[in-house]
Amino acid sequence: MASTSPVPAGLYIHVPFCLAKCPYCDFYSIADSRRIPGYVDALLTELDMCRQAVPIADTIYFGGGTPSLLTPDQVENILERIHASFFVAVDTEITLEVNPGTVDKARLAGYRNAGVNRLNIGLQSFQNETLAFLGRIHTAEQAIDTYQWARQAGFDNVGLDLIYGPSRWRPERPWR
Ligand code: SF4
Repeated sequence: MASTSPVPAGLYIHVPFCLAKCPYCDFYSIADSRRIPGYVDALLTELDMCRQAVPIADTIYFGGGTPSLLTPDQVENILERIHASFFVAVDTEITLEVNPGTVDKARLAGYRNAGVNRLNIGLQSFQNETLAFLGRIHTAEQAIDTYQWARQAGFDNVGLDLIYGPSRWRPERPWR
């Protein structure tokens, strides 16, 4: 007899907003933060509609785009709705992607208080020249600050995104 146990699912929340578009990026996002409140309202409605389809969430991931453009209150509202709509185990990994240049120490602490237990920081490079080449909005110093603030805010699970490419790419900008 087939099991009727519900299959857990990972919840991926795409936050389709960035302060500016990096020229190499193919992820969908728009540089218009004014539309974030409407997006959050629509997301909360969507979560209600998914309630019966996927009852158990075993990971939650806020990706983007730039999820750190959401305020801690907005993240908390979304997580509250997820907990109301799905069974979420106490040890569920809840990740939020953070871009340096969009956060400070208090904001990271706010995410921790909201229930986020893992950050993924879009560091990309420790070289300011490379960051400028990539069109990133932050400096290496801001990236290091962001990592230190994350640890000070209580995050002991932090991922760092780094971009690697063959050096022959350096002289040109192949996307232009
Ligand atoms: S911040 Fe990330 S998602 Fe946004 S445009 Fe740059 S690479 Fe793409």
